[in-house]
Amino acid sequence: MTLTVQPHRETLGLKDGQLFVGGQFRDSDETWTHHHPATGEEIGRFAVASVRDVDDAVRAARKAFDDGVWSRARVQERVRVLLRYANLLREHSDELRGLQALDNGVPLSFGQIYATSVGIAADIFEHHAGWIDKVGGQTLPPYQGGDHLAMTFREPVGVVAAILPWNAPFVLFAQKLAPALAAGCTIVVKPSEFASFCVIRMVQLLTEAGLPDGVVNLVTGPGEPTGQALITHPLVDKISFTGSRTVGRKIVEASAATMKRVSLELGGKSPALVFADAPNVGLAAMTCMGMVTMGLSGQACVAHTRALVAREVQEEFVTMATMMAGAVTFGDPFDPAVLASPLINARQLDRVLGYINRGQEEGARLVTGGTRLEGDLASGNFVAPTIFADVSNDMTVAREEIFGPVLTVVPFDDEDEAVRLANDTEYGLGAGIYTNDVKRAFRVAKSLRAGMVGINGFQLEPHVPFGGYKQSGLGREGGQSAYEAYTELKTVMMPL
Ligand code: NAD
Repeated sequence: MTLTVQPHRETLGLKDGQLFVGGQFRDSDETWTHHHPATGEEIGRFAVASVRDVDDAVRAARKAFDDGVWSRARVQERVRVLLRYANLLREHSDELRGLQALDNGVPLSFGQIYATSVGIAADIFEHHAGWIDKVGGQTLPPYQGGDHLAMTFREPVGVVAAILPWNAPFVLFAQKLAPALAAGCTIVVKPSEFASFCVIRMVQLLTEAGLPDGVVNLVTGPGEPTGQALITHPLVDKISFTGSRTVGRKIVEASAATMKRVSLELGGKSPALVFADAPNVGLAAMTCMGMVTMGLSGQACVAHTRALVAREVQEEFVTMATMMAGAVTFGDPFDPAVLASPLINARQLDRVLGYINRGQEEGARLVTGGTRLEGDLASGNFVAPTIFADVSNDMTVAREEIFGPVLTVVPFDDEDEAVRLANDTEYGLGAGIYTNDVKRAFRVAKSLRAGMVGINGFQLEPHVPFGGYKQSGLGREGGQSAYEAYTELKTVMMPL
């Protein structure tokens, strides 16, 4: 039977997507047709914002900022809007999870788990609502003695361009918009062209929460022309971007012209260091394999895709990871028994299959997978969970972000080698350590050049900083660091 997601369009009442500028939904001259990644079916159309549309959206955000309709509103009113929004997200959680399954193909079963969860997005808004009346500046003592006042103030950075990838639209929308709104900024948000319908609905709900016109504006469309027009716009003060390193570089270049502030959450090639004294080697193997298959099929920035495993337990690790690979189910994202998604588009499918070929050519041992899924799933972008063992860290599959269901297992002989291999990467987003030796756990954690290190487990939460070292990004989302990233620090001095 051929897979179809068409009936869910009706049930979810999916309409063509519009732009949202200055408090009004509107069309644009061009549209984009979105195809479902599991079936290739046409899902719907949404507006492609032109350079002029983007200019209108940025000017609307600029006006709302300069008029102070949000940053100067009563603190309690701003808190209430964010809390109301968090409640609305929870009330619409089932609908939003359905929209996501229709948009980027993430299965309903996984729409409750951290990265793809509407509930966590709601938690993030609640968390940041709590900062609004708590972050202030400092009063500093007179350096030369006598009477001299020096104070610092935190002020909103201004107009923020928030640019999102496709893989976790709810949480990443929240990671950017919640702290930016808490800080008093105004925003133009651009979702990925591969997950726009989720974000269009998120923006509609913001209007229901009572946000004043112009504070959040939405431009949909691809990188060219929409994204490029946004990152080069002179009236944008800050770009907050999550996506690939390639586009991240373009953003750094574009920001130079007007010295825009920049926050970047980019890719990763995160290692998991599994020592022979791990509490449970099998569980470590299942966690790594789960991260590269369950839910997003490895299309997750923090997934521990590079397992560095003590040579004496490599086979035990590989056996358990292979069992896990066999347990992953693919298919209709609306079927509760389906656990993993397709790759987002044909280009990504070709990339992943290309990396798998390259791994075999370079001499990595293919343990399982390595092929596209056929039969009922042939019209979707599905790839079988894949494991490479006996990988050397200089092989392409161990160096580049594959963004697919591929785990590479690199054996090591001692702790020093494990740390050296872990740090031998251009990325530095996450890392995992599996050991029963507490001193080793902290010694290794301190040696790793990575932004987020899990010891015998990995949990991401709204109040903890999230971000990477090296080419995995700039700055941190989550918690106080996120709020501060949407502020400027002003010093005011006065001799008394
Ligand atoms: P992408 O870089 O292709 O696209 C991201 C966004 O940038 C999209 O909205 C796209 O339209 C836009 N864009 C493309 N070209 C642009 C341009 N010239 N100017 C402005 N905007 C432009 O990434 P993707 O395929 O959507 O997502 C996958 C990548 O995101 C992976 O590398 C993954 O690791 C990374 N990611 C990182 C995190 C994190 O928190 N560190 C989280 C999720 C995803």
